[in-house]
Amino acid sequence: MTSILIKGGRVIDPASGRDETGDVWIVGGKIAKSGRKAARTIDARGKWVVPGLIDIHVHFREPGEEAKETIADGCAAAVAGGFTSVATMANTGQVVDTAMAVRYVRDRAAEAGLARIFPLGAVTKGLKGEELAEMGLMAKAGAAGFSDDGRPIMNSEVMRRALEYAAMFRKPVVSHCEDAHLTKGAAMNEGPVATELGLRGWPAVAESAMAARDAMLAKWTGGHVHIAHVSAKETVEVIRAAKKSGARVTAEAAPHHLTLDDQRLRGYDPRFKMNPPLRTAEDVEAVVAALADGTIDCIASDHAPHGTEEKEQEFAACPNGVVGLETTVGVVLTDLVAAGKLTARRAIEAMTSAPARILGLALGSLVQGSAADVTIIDPARKWKVDPSKFRSRGRCTPWEGRSLTGAAVATIVGGLVVYES
Ligand SMILES: [Zn+2]
Repeated sequence: MTSILIKGGRVIDPASGRDETGDVWIVGGKIAKSGRKAARTIDARGKWVVPGLIDIHVHFREPGEEAKETIADGCAAAVAGGFTSVATMANTGQVVDTAMAVRYVRDRAAEAGLARIFPLGAVTKGLKGEELAEMGLMAKAGAAGFSDDGRPIMNSEVMRRALEYAAMFRKPVVSHCEDAHLTKGAAMNEGPVATELGLRGWPAVAESAMAARDAMLAKWTGGHVHIAHVSAKETVEVIRAAKKSGARVTAEAAPHHLTLDDQRLRGYDPRFKMNPPLRTAEDVEAVVAALADGTIDCIASDHAPHGTEEKEQEFAACPNGVVGLETTVGVVLTDLVAAGKLTARRAIEAMTSAPARILGLALGSLVQGSAADVTIIDPARKWKVDPSKFRSRGRCTPWEGRSLTGAAVATIVGGLVVYES
């Protein structure tokens, strides 16, 4: 394995508190303190050199819906966006609810040889919310945690058992918080805009009430619940209180919930349709403040590719979800960091050491001896979002045509340069 010297960049490693201009050495696939002779030197002056980015919420569609996205496509999109590790959700065409399915996902990722994949196994068989899946066997096969994401676990007894069981393997249960009785037929956030547009609303309380239940169950069982894609101000309040009470609760927010509100729905544009839906400007502000102060631990894209035809159906009928792996860095740097809402260090922490800690991964740092997963970001690179250039098969993004500043320019996984631009 060759040695690489990344020279003269702004090294930001929140896990160790390092933020200075300096060099990073990679020797034998690991971060080294220094080296003798580099086989390759990368000039990083003016760039940020950070731990390989980690996204703990992505939907690749394999096994079962390979036309939407294969694991190889998803991994290519990940490294193009600067992500060296991703956690995949279990709600694929064939649900990942067995040890065999977990191994299949890991094998396909190894074949692709780009990003590291940490599969989340389903909590319940077939995502039906009724009977626990074989969580122990999946954990043994390498599942990083468990989630029925895409669907809520409505049965509190099932959630209780899931938290207890997952805790035995020190894994989190990632909760898609949605009281399904409150969201039947909903197409967007419940509120004045939905009324005006004549669309059925998804009230914020359907999220916050379930987050409160899950936080209380986590406290009671000693389990770890991770709240996916926080969208509402009230959910932030629930998480803040839960953390204060000592419950093992962590949370993530997606770039779209951190930057866009429900006014965008006025054009009935499916590029703004996701679950949970875009909320009000006040919610966006609360979610951003919670990310800045650590109440929300990390950023996760909820990358969710769909076929173009499917996504172009009538608004009420079209599926939820947008792609995100290739736009997260640009959106976070442009709309949060450059806008003064988030420091560079906190933004990088929210995409490296924080997600690593949630899933218990020995990644997300540049300290000596760590796996050499490194992302080089040019904070000044200007580019325009053109979905036809995505590595992902998904083309639907709320940022289509948007000019952004900041992009990953090199992605290194285990000491190998897997992406450069
Ligand atoms: Zn979800």
